Amino acid sequence: MIRVQQVAPRSVGAELGFVPGTELIAINGRALEDFLDWEYLSADDRFLLLARAPSGEPVEYDIERPEGMPLGLTLEPPRIRRCANHCDFCFVDGNPAGLRSGLYIRDDDYRLSFRYGHFATLTNLKPRDLERIVEYRLSPLYVSVHAADPVVRRWLLRNPEAPDVVEQLGALGARGIRFHTQVVLMPGVNDGPQLDRTLAALYGLGAPILSVSVVPVALTEFSKHHVVRQPGRDECRAALAVVERAAARALGERGDPWCYGADELYLRAGQGLPPAAWYGDFEQRENGVGAVRYLETRIAEAEGWPDGLSGTRVGVVTGTAMGSLMPQVLAGLAQATGAIFETISVENSLFGPSVTTAGLLPGAAIRRALVERDDLGLALLPAEAINDDRLLIDSMAAGDLAAGLPMELRWSHDFVDVLAGQGVTA
Ligand code: SF4
Repeated sequence: MIRVQQVAPRSVGAELGFVPGTELIAINGRALEDFLDWEYLSADDRFLLLARAPSGEPVEYDIERPEGMPLGLTLEPPRIRRCANHCDFCFVDGNPAGLRSGLYIRDDDYRLSFRYGHFATLTNLKPRDLERIVEYRLSPLYVSVHAADPVVRRWLLRNPEAPDVVEQLGALGARGIRFHTQVVLMPGVNDGPQLDRTLAALYGLGAPILSVSVVPVALTEFSKHHVVRQPGRDECRAALAVVERAAARALGERGDPWCYGADELYLRAGQGLPPAAWYGDFEQRENGVGAVRYLETRIAEAEGWPDGLSGTRVGVVTGTAMGSLMPQVLAGLAQATGAIFETISVENSLFGPSVTTAGLLPGAAIRRALVERDDLGLALLPAEAINDDRLLIDSMAAGDLAAGLPMELRWSHDFVDVLAGQGVTA
């Protein structure tokens, strides 16, 4: 069921009499199951909509609107598809008790994979979902493959029913769908010959597989350490050797590396990152692949730095993963702006020191790191650490964090967004 949450004032929807709480039932006789049906079936400029008013009364709308004019309806958030797997490395199991309820939901939703680039396993798809993916051309999708061998994959996902993902990708690929894929690396399970086999199987599918990333498994203090562990330095080096062999082949045969190690894999291996050009369009940067080189590139290409920053002391808050790499990123920024940058590498006090990403930093840890820093004129914080409601992972509001600190705060994805004048001040 889909329901209207908001109606934009003076919009076509407002003129037609839509109100919050209106249920949208069918378009041209086709039942509406979720936001995807609504978006695709309401894309025409003329259609017949069956709805139900909040009073329960059915209403039929014969909608005709000027070409491209939005109706101005915002829908209630969709019900998230729940995951059918029980991975030992699941991030939900790695959450401490007491976080907000949404953080305990195991989602595995191909619709959000298409919309937001979330990785999905495709293990909970029904025949109807497969048809929708093709009909609505939900491409590219982001898929967690982990292992091409169905037995290994089922073991990793703790799901004996998981279908053969290579077959799934091949079948959807033959119908025009494209994929970015990832392998979350678990030492002793899907590395070594298994990783070789997985990369070979994905490469063998040809054009539908746009990229594959290999990412070391991330665990927190609360994860199931008795059954899963993070790869050590030599295991990361060995995995990178497999990745680089696959990439060299792809580069020679197809003209792009296709297979990438996550930045974290290079860090754990103690090896330098490839140059920015290696990553092409940085398609998997949100997955931590080429994220450092992306930042450097954005800074190098940016224009319009403000004059007023010269001489300002700026603290850049990040997780411990980026702590060692940030100085090389900030060197370009200091040159461009004349400001004095300092990396403030913050240990994760909520999940434990093994969680090194900036996006999971709790507000309490950031506050502790900054509260006595009245020498700073500005602090740049990782924008991925707050959600759409501007809450950090420990539910501290961004505004509350800012209120208790002695410097101006700005939440930034790549520095350019706030320092070049387009960002949001906390
Ligand atoms: S696929 Fe695995 S890691 Fe992802 S939500 Fe499901 S159980 Fe958790």
